Order: sequence, then C-alpha cells, then structure tokens
Amino acid sequence: MDLSGKKVTVMGLGRFGGGVGVTRWLAANGADVLVTDLEPADRLSDSIDQIRPLVDSGAVELRLGGHNVSDFTTCDLVIANVAVPKPWDNRFTRAAEAANIPVTTEISLFLARLPAHARERTIAVTGSVGKSTTSAMIHHALNRAAAARGECERVLLGGNIGVSLLDELGSINDRTWLVLELSSAMLHWLDRDRTRGWSPRVAVITNISPNHIDWHGSVEHYTASKQLLLRSQRPADVAVLGESVWDWRTLTPAACKLVRADLFVPKMLLPGEHNRENAAAALLACAGAMPDCPPAVFADAIAAFGGLPHRLQLVAEKPRTRCERGEPMRFYNDSKSTTPESCIRAIEALAAMPGFAGSRIHLIAGGYDKGSDLSPIAHAAGRLAGLYTIGKTGPKLAEAAAGKAVQAGTLDAAFAAALERMRPGDALLLSPGCASWDQFINYEKRGEAFIRLVEELA
Ligand code: ADP
Repeated sequence: MDLSGKKVTVMGLGRFGGGVGVTRWLAANGADVLVTDLEPADRLSDSIDQIRPLVDSGAVELRLGGHNVSDFTTCDLVIANVAVPKPWDNRFTRAAEAANIPVTTEISLFLARLPAHARERTIAVTGSVGKSTTSAMIHHALNRAAAARGECERVLLGGNIGVSLLDELGSINDRTWLVLELSSAMLHWLDRDRTRGWSPRVAVITNISPNHIDWHGSVEHYTASKQLLLRSQRPADVAVLGESVWDWRTLTPAACKLVRADLFVPKMLLPGEHNRENAAAALLACAGAMPDCPPAVFADAIAAFGGLPHRLQLVAEKPRTRCERGEPMRFYNDSKSTTPESCIRAIEALAAMPGFAGSRIHLIAGGYDKGSDLSPIAHAAGRLAGLYTIGKTGPKLAEAAAGKAVQAGTLDAAFAAALERMRPGDALLLSPGCASWDQFINYEKRGEAFIRLVEELA
C-alpha cells in the first residue's frame, strides 16, 4: 500500500513511546495519521513530546483517554501496538476487520517492505528469556566480523529490543545484516496477510517457559506463536535451538544446531550459566549466518561482550558506611528479570561466583501479576539471606515463602529492609521475576529507581 494521503490510525502510543517510531515514519511517508490511546494525555506526556512537531503541524491528530470505534472503521489502515493483549478479541480491531480495514503492526510493516534478498541475511531471535542478550551478542559479533572483512557491511539490530527499523528501509541492501529480536506477540502478528509464511534464514529460540499468559490467553497459544518462527524455514536455513526446545527440531526442515552451555569455552565477561547458554546460541547463529568466517572471530567478540543494562548489572560495591571495614556490599540490578526462571538464573549466577554463596544474597522480587507460577522463587527463599517482596504479587509470594520473606510492598521499603539485615560482603539483588507495570512504567524505570537508591547510600 502506498501510504501517501492514506488515513492511518495508530492504536497505542504507549507511555514509553512504543508508537512513536511508526507514527513518525507514517507521517514522513505522507499518511494522514490519527494516534489513539486509552491513556489520557497527562500519562503520555513523554511520548507526546516526541511527536509534538507533527501534532503542531497538523500531520498527526491525537485521540487520547479512550478509543472511538469510528476511528477504526473510517480509515485505510490500522497499526496496532503489539502490546495490545488478545488482539483477536479486541472490540476496536474487530470493528476495523468487520469494515474490511487491514490491521497490522509496525514489525509487519517493516518485514512486508523488506527486499526479498534481505531474509538471507536475517537472524531472528525469540524465546522466553535471553532474547535481548543473545540478539545483542549476535549483533556485536557480526559487527566485529563484518569490520574484519572490510566489505562495507552493516549490521542492524532492532525489533523487540526497542529500536524501530522502519527508517532504515531505504538503506537496506545486499550488504546489510539484520538481527531481529521478536516477541511472541510480534510473531503472532506476523502470521497474517503479507508476512504470513515469513521465517528468517537463521532462527534462534533460546528457551521456552510459560510467560505472557495474560496477552495470549493460554500457554498453548504462547508456545504456538513462538513456533511460528520456524514454520516456514527452508532446508538451506539454520535453526538454533536451546535445550528446552530441542524437540522442536521436528518443526523445521532447516539444519538444526542444538545449544549446550558447555559449547562455549572461552572465559566470558558476563556471569552465569545462562549467559554461557546465550553465548553458545549466539556463536551457533553467527556461524550459521557467516559460515565462511572463522568461528574464533565470533567467540572472541562474544566473550568480550559487556552486557546490556538491567541484566545482572553490577551497580556498585559499597561499604555500609564510609568507615566500615571488611568486604563491601554489592548491588546488582537485574530489573529485566520478568519471569521466575530468569530470577532463579540470576540467583544461581551470583551464587556460582567465586567467594559467594546463596546465603549471602538478599533478593528483591515481585511485581505485576501476569499469571506466572512464582513458587520457584518462594522455594529459593530458604537458601537466601533474605527475600523482600514488592508489588502486586508480593503478598502471594511472601505467603508461598512461608515466613521466610519480608513483604515490603515498595522498592524503597524493600531496599531499606534489606539494608538493615545486610552484612559486609553480602549482595543485594533486584531480580523481580515479574513485570514492572503495577508500580513502574517499565523495567528500565524500575532498574533506574534501584540504581538511584544505591547511589543515595553514603
Ligand atoms: P529477554 O529479552 O528475553 O527478556 P534478556 O536477555 O533481556 O531476555 O534477559 C532477561 C532476564 O533473563 C535477565 O534477568 C537475565 O539475567 C535472564 N536471562 C537471560 N538469559 C537467560 C537464559 N538463557 N535463561 C534464563 N534466564 C536468562
């Protein structure tokens, strides 16, 4: 569809700017854009500021604090934010479809406009946890390899990792590599219209565990959405499969590479067995993408990868007071941990560090309730120096920990309660195992709040 002069409704600007990239791109392509969001303007001010010039010039109209059905039935195209849960059951997207108006998403717009040759240089990563880390490792390693080849190759990273790639469409050529992080919601949307049947040349599935049940409605729907990444692969393609999805190799005709943490031998900057798994997956993906490049180039780059913020990030090593002697306390920000499994992995990663044990770890966990089974975190409480629960799931989690947890409620209160009990050499780990939306706009804000509390310590 040539978008010039077309009326396009963007559903969901988002408090953290999820709809900003596509709105700007649509306006730049001559579309007449209406942005609508259930939240009122004062809750969206950061995002509105980012499109203010377009609103002031009249290129973009805003309808905030609720949706109007007519905005969905009198336009040429609807772009739904992938965060909208169960979109097949949404009154507004259904109204659009009943009026024969196409409904799509930013990632589908992007993939539908990619030149056909681009799939040959596309590596797409999904899974329940480890997507961003693995995608960033692949991006980092391919960048190194591309630079060493000196062939003016470019490596782009985008998708669920938060970077809109629409503006890059014009510059993508047969020397461009694409690393895409794809969420289960994105994959669900890709199974429609022009992107139905899309699969990348190199597919990576890090692992699977129940997640995002509130969006999908069931574990089966969530799992089936993840599996779509493999469904249309070809025999010359590559599928990199984490241990929990090894049996998915029957779903693809591609050459399957099975991930084991011990495949990655070099000493890494990032801690934890889970990061060794991510590194092994990244190594196999890079080798599948650029088979003519010596694997040692990728391995060296992955070993030197310094990690992403909010993922087991060491914020500071501090004594409790300026004159306190002995080992400093350590503070780790793992705010991106939004599943019980990633919380357990974080505990294991710290407990495996030299000179450390679970008995020195104080954990802050809990948050938005997306229906996950939190019992693994509750069971871990017995091995820890302390569990301090926060947010909506806090009471349930504290109850399941049977007297071994402090139900603190807020991050500030949890931080204060932990500090009171910490001894020199102990670690305080924020690894909530839950999403942040009940108390924070997103996990970044939650992590930043934790970092501020650490910085405020004398
Ligand atoms: P995603 O993008 O899938 O949410 P991230 O790479 O951002 O994954 O990591 C999110 C959280 O999961 C972090 O807390 C991290 O420590 C943990 N994690 C990362 N990789 C794995 C893995 N392979 N298995 C379990 N937990 C992981």
